[in-house]
Amino acid sequence: ANIVAIVGRPNVGKSTLFNRLVGERKAIMDNVSGVTRDRHYGYGEWCGKFYTVIDTGGYVHGSDDIFEGEIRKQVELAIKEATVILFMVDVDAGLTGLDEEFADVLRRTDKPVFIVANKADTNLRAHLAGEFYALGLGDNIFPISSANGSGTGDLLDEVVKHFQTEDPENPDEGVPKIAVLGRPNVGKSSFVNLLLGEERNIVTDVAGTTRDSIHSRYNAFGNEFIIIDTAGLRRKTKVHEDIEFYSVLRSIRALEESDICIVMIDATRGLEAQDVNIIGLADKNRKGIVILVNKWDLIENKATNTMKEIEEQIREKLAPMTYMPIIFTSVLTKQRVHKAIETAVQVYQNKTQKIPTSKLNDVILKEIEAYPPPAIKGKFVKIKYVTQLPTHNPTFAFFCNSPQYIRESYTRFLENKIRKHFGFEGVPINVIYRKK
Ligand code: GDP
Repeated sequence: ANIVAIVGRPNVGKSTLFNRLVGERKAIMDNVSGVTRDRHYGYGEWCGKFYTVIDTGGYVHGSDDIFEGEIRKQVELAIKEATVILFMVDVDAGLTGLDEEFADVLRRTDKPVFIVANKADTNLRAHLAGEFYALGLGDNIFPISSANGSGTGDLLDEVVKHFQTEDPENPDEGVPKIAVLGRPNVGKSSFVNLLLGEERNIVTDVAGTTRDSIHSRYNAFGNEFIIIDTAGLRRKTKVHEDIEFYSVLRSIRALEESDICIVMIDATRGLEAQDVNIIGLADKNRKGIVILVNKWDLIENKATNTMKEIEEQIREKLAPMTYMPIIFTSVLTKQRVHKAIETAVQVYQNKTQKIPTSKLNDVILKEIEAYPPPAIKGKFVKIKYVTQLPTHNPTFAFFCNSPQYIRESYTRFLENKIRKHFGFEGVPINVIYRKK
């Protein structure tokens, strides 16, 4: 993904530029109530090239004060995450001491830094931008007016030249996919619409193509995803067609294509047989899983212990698949929708993490020593070491003398220990044995 970070002192116009760069779409989570965010993330496009914008200065709420530590934090974040850094200054105010502090940190990066001289609303004022050569950050200086938009096109023309190119044949290749699954009426469309904006509901029907699901690009906290939505496209079903059957079929196809499944269940109905089926299928297919208990607003007593009880009931029904996060959401009141997506992103990261062999052995061999595989018919199994295989799904190979004498319950023990120490929340993991 291509990330454009905006840095600069307060009041130079960072959020106005941010809004220009993300166009109509705005920061997706901007209107989620009750959420205080550190930063703004948005998603934009220029000449067919997609990018994420981060306004790293979003945390200075209602204050002009900024501390040195904050500057460093802001800029270091930008340096770490960004493809291109836009350092915003103000021709009106001229070069300030704070600008120089930003420049001091920015001079240490090899990444392209563009000085965006804002408030250059007239030609005369644009000339004043020359003064920022003194920052010693090169001559990529762009006078713009984020208020009236002048200059931002020229800026973006240059910015996109630094982007990584995508495979034009298959722009979605390598982008993680999140499928939104659940029974009819559970709130899938409402959820996806909240994430993507209502406009994405407008679907043009191409004659002769039957599509099961809609793939939409979505950006969460600087990570790009494809959302696979099975609900948005309501096929015109014939009267005697089995709607339920088609909805299951669609879900299965979406599931197979995905990396992560968000499975929505209805809080007023609890976990139903079909929900268990789809979760089991996701587990078998080694997908990352997040469970949303939606319509939480309709539950009478929303006390913490009610939530805990319901969660326990769900986990009992799902046992031994106990590794998935369960989040209580209301798409209607936007409660914890932000958290749901954050969790899906985290699960994807969990799914792709690789534990170094030495670290794994340090921890797991100690656990095995404390609780070795019980002997069966006088046979002792000796586990020598463990390594995570370079496979797509987390797989741990335990090398031992007589793998055939290891019981299922011991495999579960090993899995639990791996989870306890390395946190694969939401991710099915494989434990296998190799004869050594
Ligand atoms: P889908 O079939 O899974 O796509 O479900 P929809 O998104 O069409 O939602 C079905 C109905 O449930 C609609 O009337 C929504 O407004 C409603 N709904 C969705 N989420 C919530 C929620 O969190 N709380 C409540 N009370 N209603 C919801």
